[in-house]
Amino acid sequence: MKASDKNRPLVGRCTDVGKIRSANEDNMGDLPIDQGHVLIVADGMGGYRGGALASHLVVEAIEEYFRDARVETPPKAMRQAICLANERIYLRGQQEEELSRMGSTCVLAMVREGLTYLAHVGDSRIYLLRKGGKLQQLTRDHTVVQHFVDVGLLSPEEADGHPDSHILSRALGPRAHVEPELSEFALRLRPGDRILLCSDGLTKMIRDPDIEKILQKGETPQDAAEDMVQTANDNGGEDNVTVLIYEYHPTTQEEWDALEKEETQEVPVKKPASEPASEPHELEEDFASASTNALPHEEPAGEQHDLDPLPKKKEAPAAPAKEAAPKQESAEKEASTEAKAEESSAKDDAASAPKEDKKEESSEKKAEKTEEPAPSKEDTEK
Ligand code: CA
Repeated sequence: MKASDKNRPLVGRCTDVGKIRSANEDNMGDLPIDQGHVLIVADGMGGYRGGALASHLVVEAIEEYFRDARVETPPKAMRQAICLANERIYLRGQQEEELSRMGSTCVLAMVREGLTYLAHVGDSRIYLLRKGGKLQQLTRDHTVVQHFVDVGLLSPEEADGHPDSHILSRALGPRAHVEPELSEFALRLRPGDRILLCSDGLTKMIRDPDIEKILQKGETPQDAAEDMVQTANDNGGEDNVTVLIYEYHPTTQEEWDALEKEETQEVPVKKPASEPASEPHELEEDFASASTNALPHEEPAGEQHDLDPLPKKKEAPAAPAKEAAPKQESAEKEASTEAKAEESSAKDDAASAPKEDKKEESSEKKAEKTEEPAPSKEDTEK
C-alpha cells in the first residue's frame, strides 16, 4: 500500500458466479459522493434473465439517485433511492412475462463525513470490523426464519441450517411498494474501520469467525475481498458470491475534529416517515419461496445471531411467540400512525430539499398508479 492511500478511503470489490450456478445474478456499486461514499450490493432472483436484470436495476437506480440528488437527510434519501429501485424492477416486471417474477435484495451503506448510515431489504448483509475489534453484523436478515428467531419461535441453534432459511420476508420488485429497514443510528467510523457488504453466497459458505479473520488479515480491502470469494468457492461455492469492502480514512479536518470531540460512536438519526404496504408481506414470501434463491445450506453461519446488531428502539418489544404472523401487520399499523404523525414534518422538509422531495413525489405517484394491477399470488407462481 502506498503511503498516500492511507489518507483516503479504500474500496475492495470482488464477485464470482461460484461453483454451481451458471450465471451471476449479483451486482454491486460504489459511488463517491460529496464528502462520502455510497455502497450497494444486490442479489437478484427470478430466473436466468430476471435475477441479473433485477440486481442490475437496483445498482443503476440507486447510483442514479445519488448522482442527481442533493442529500439533506441520508436516511430519507436512502429510503427514496431504494423505493426508486423497487419501482423500476416492479414496472419492468409488469412489461414482460419472462421477468414477472424477478426481484432482488439490497444492502445500502452511505458514509458521509465519517458517519455511516444503513438501509436494507432481504438477506444480503452489512458487517463492521472496527480496527482491532470484533466483527459485528449490522443488518438483520429479512427471512422467515430470522423472523421466527426474533419472535422466539426458533432458537438461533434451530435456525442454523433450517431448510426454509432461504425464504425472504421482504424483497425489491414483486410489489409496487417496499419498506426498507433503516438503521436507527449513524455509526461514527474511526480510521482503518472496515465495512463489508455481501450477498448470502458469502455468508452461506463462510462462518462469521472466518469472515472476521480474512477481513482482518487482508492488507488492503481488495486483498480481503478476493480472499473471501476464493474461500467461499473453496468451501463449495454453492451460490453467486459478492463482496464489497470499504475502509474508512478521514479526508477532511472536520472529520478529524469530530473524532476528537465525539465520545459516542453512535449518533441517533431521525428516520423518515414509513409508508406501510397496504397488505402484509405474504406475497414476497411466496415469491421468494418460488425463486431460484433456494439452494440448501450445508454450512449456514450459526454464530451470526450471537453478534449484536444495531441497537433497536426500546419502545418496540418483540411480539409474543404465538403472534408471529400478525406481528408484521401490527408493526405496519404502528408505522402507519407514525407516517401520519410525520407527514407534516415531511412537508416542512420540502422547502429545504426540493429535489429530493420532487423525486419522492414523482416516484410515489407512479407507484400509486401501478398499485391497482399488483401481481396476484398466481402471477408470481407461473
Ligand atoms: Ca444469493
